[in-house]
Amino acid sequence: MTASQEKILVVEDNQMNLMLVTDLLEAAGYLVIPAHGGKEALRVARQEHPDLILMDIQLPELDGLEVTRLLKQDESTRDIKIVALTAHAMRGDEDKARQAGCCGYIAKPINTREFVNVVRDYLSGTRT
Ligand code: MN
Repeated sequence: MTASQEKILVVEDNQMNLMLVTDLLEAAGYLVIPAHGGKEALRVARQEHPDLILMDIQLPELDGLEVTRLLKQDESTRDIKIVALTAHAMRGDEDKARQAGCCGYIAKPINTREFVNVVRDYLSGTRT
């Protein structure tokens, strides 16, 4: 691990999706921290203060939109960029994610050839 290695919290309750995203990000040199549900995501975000959160919207207990709202209400975590991940690319989902505080949106199934570039652009702020 280098000092400049960027840390990404991946919140995803589907183990296959979590593994795929983790593999892609680790292969690109990112440090990945997993969370499997909303409550764990809140705890880990506060502890680890990642550079970016990839937030599944459909989660048990506390959904990704609610977790995003809570993190954006908290002074200690509101500066963390959050990008929504959702399986249902339905009309209005992007608006809902942005209203909750997400800076962007990635639809699942993810495009494995473009995914890392999209994440990099969100981290650098070239994609908003
Ligand atoms: Mn899910």
